[in-house]
Amino acid sequence: MTVLILGSGGREHAIALAVSNDPQVGAVHVAPGNPGTASFAVNHPVDASDADAVVALAREISADLVVVGPEAPLVAGVADAVRAAGIDCFGPSREAARLEGSKAFAKEIMTAAGVPTAEAVACSSVEEAEAALDRFGAPHVVKDDGLAAGKGVVVTSDRAEALAHARHCIESGHPIVIEDYLKGPEVSLFAICDGTRALPLQPAQDFKRVGDGGTGPNTGGMGAYTPLPWAPADLVETVTTSIITPTLTEMNRRGTPFQGLLYVGLSLTSQGPRVVEFNVRFGDPETQPLLSMIESPLAQVMRAAAKGDLSAFDDGLEFRRGFGVGVVLASEGYPGEVTTGREIQGALASDGGSDPDIIQAGTALDGDRLVSAGGRVLVALGHGETLTGARQAAYARIGRITLEGGFHRGDIALTAAEEEAFTALSEPKGS
Ligand code: AMP
Repeated sequence: MTVLILGSGGREHAIALAVSNDPQVGAVHVAPGNPGTASFAVNHPVDASDADAVVALAREISADLVVVGPEAPLVAGVADAVRAAGIDCFGPSREAARLEGSKAFAKEIMTAAGVPTAEAVACSSVEEAEAALDRFGAPHVVKDDGLAAGKGVVVTSDRAEALAHARHCIESGHPIVIEDYLKGPEVSLFAICDGTRALPLQPAQDFKRVGDGGTGPNTGGMGAYTPLPWAPADLVETVTTSIITPTLTEMNRRGTPFQGLLYVGLSLTSQGPRVVEFNVRFGDPETQPLLSMIESPLAQVMRAAAKGDLSAFDDGLEFRRGFGVGVVLASEGYPGEVTTGREIQGALASDGGSDPDIIQAGTALDGDRLVSAGGRVLVALGHGETLTGARQAAYARIGRITLEGGFHRGDIALTAAEEEAFTALSEPKGS
């Protein structure tokens, strides 16, 4: 099988790596890719959101499967164009991608499907926004309706700040959604969907704030781990039956089946799991540890989903034992303005090739030097039988990398690892 992956981030590096481990895959191509993917796949300087260029490339390399990484090409209808050209594509249609492209649409689907989520009101005027803020009370949650690259959501107890964000969005011509605050730990659950069936991955958690202890501004994510030893044992089953399957059924009923990766952002509230958000593609940085754990042949699974028939995988996906932890190395200044072009040392394997446990994102080649090219530079992965072991491996790996001004959080998966250690101590041996 020849597979073409669209995108250039850490997520795409992780997908390309997992796909290349599928024994049925002969060639992996990435457009545009990054230096990490270039080390084992073929990069092409093609804009992932340019449907005509993507179709031309897929034809030129005789791709059997195209996998769309980021949301922008999906919302732009690139998956539709690839499918119209008769090529299997893993990624939802433009219509189905509205589950992420419009928060109001996602709410409409959830309401119709009876999916548990925060109560919400769509507002298009400042007066409506004020009434909604008063109705729900603090903490306030104000969301830009459309794609805002992770910057559209403000969660605050300060009513003036909430109203200022609402006003800013509305005055820029963007409708907003104001919703009830969901209290509880956040979990990400990804499912590979064929339109009717869903194959869930393991639950994961990411760390959004820039600083240790969840301090400082929000980022695209500073690290993640999977699975979650503290999550309820029936979480995946509950979310599949009460959230994912009803959503797929409702999308089908509307004639816009969802086929691709459904990312369910959840809050585990005292009343059970509630949807915080849907995304229609793999999430970064959870994808990096998640796909490093997968043992099922990922390209075959994604192709079956693209063909609308996952029945061959009814027994579910297989994962390696233990835990995966990913720690992000960020550039000085992130998530604000960053300095790039600085040399990264220690990120390659000892033979100079790519280290499969370093997933590159904001990197570039300057001659034969690997340099930083973005806010989040790479993810260092670690695996272990225990979360403590997986953390140690990830932190040992990131500790060998040098980047002037570069930094990482020190507490990725720390609380869960401490709880794991405490449980191990308090359980009698042999139990
Ligand atoms: P979203 O883009 O909808 O995922 O929102 C970004 C982040 O804001 C989420 O990951 C949550 O941490 C937070 N958030 C969004 N909606 C809510 C809510 N209803 N209650 C509490 N936190 C929320």
